[in-house]
Amino acid sequence: MAGIYVHVPFCKQKCSYCDFASFPREIGKAEAYFACLYKELKARSLSLKDKKFSTVYFGGGTPSFVEPKYIYGALKQIYTCFNVDKNAEITLEVNPGTIDENKLKVYKNAGVNRFSVGLQTANDKTLYSINRIHTVEDFKRAIELLKDYNVSVDVMIGLPDETVSDVKNTLDLATSYPQVKHVSVYALKAEEGTPMFTRYLNGELPDDDEVADIYDFVVDYLSKKGYNRYEVSNFAKEGYQSKHNKNYWARGEYIGVGVGASSFIEGRRFTNTESIDEYVHAILNGKVAEVFSENVCGDDAKAEYAMLALRTANGVDFNDYKNAFGSDFSADFKNSIKANGKYLDILDSCIKIKDKYLYVQNSILVDFISEKQ
Ligand code: SF4
Repeated sequence: MAGIYVHVPFCKQKCSYCDFASFPREIGKAEAYFACLYKELKARSLSLKDKKFSTVYFGGGTPSFVEPKYIYGALKQIYTCFNVDKNAEITLEVNPGTIDENKLKVYKNAGVNRFSVGLQTANDKTLYSINRIHTVEDFKRAIELLKDYNVSVDVMIGLPDETVSDVKNTLDLATSYPQVKHVSVYALKAEEGTPMFTRYLNGELPDDDEVADIYDFVVDYLSKKGYNRYEVSNFAKEGYQSKHNKNYWARGEYIGVGVGASSFIEGRRFTNTESIDEYVHAILNGKVAEVFSENVCGDDAKAEYAMLALRTANGVDFNDYKNAFGSDFSADFKNSIKANGKYLDILDSCIKIKDKYLYVQNSILVDFISEKQ
């Protein structure tokens, strides 16, 4: 399978931790941006006629912030230009402060069948302090509107002054709706250059050990509610894992369109510019908007495969690896496996990081990556 990612780089305001390609003051460029995005979709599709696409993902930014006609137009262009599976998973990211019944009608008509809703926390004071535009009441309204859909909820841990009890309240709320089949839990990273970095320097954020304890609580809580962890940050009820993300972790192919979007097709990774002006200028002149491109092959491809698969609860399937590379994972990574033996479950058909070490996987992954560099 292959996926399509569409980046919508507009937000109402900037959250204090955000360093994504999202631009609160550039909504006036939406018309020109989407005109170019439709052109990019068409141009990219020309060399991809023989591929079947099983997922489409609208991320951002805030896809639900722009007029819904743009989402409709993008999907129409995708159906026209690409070979899209009729049962494709089509996800749209939603900010609870920017969705209403009219927008939802258009999304439905366009074919969106899965919504990813950013709650982050059920604490209004914290939402305000991190510059989210919505309240807990907005979330409740949004989730009620989406009662007939397959919904995922995003939660953040490690927020300023956050306690386990705050996270419990957040999960209590998120999981109280039967339509919520999937929960993503991301640990806050204070990126340099964001206002959150100043709060980190001021000591307002929980330390790594506190966040690790909160994470352990999350895993335990969600598993008791029937949401099983299938990747370090992702939890789903049976049958509701995100196909789009699973393709990514399996090193599957995907095409990304729009500013900052990355693609991986036929062994090549490439990324578009993060500037809307540069993007529009390039596309209007019939060029690609890429600022980075590399072919990933040989040992680099093996290291990438290991890094992505070991993030998942199932780890590396030996047969899949052999089919992809024609060699044995255990032989290719024998030094890393030996060095990290106590952190790994080594079975006949697969190798994976033990459940209790999945959260602290980075040092383990570094060994696997280094072995192939
Ligand atoms: S809504 Fe998302 S993309 Fe937009 S500013 Fe906040 S974190 Fe960034």
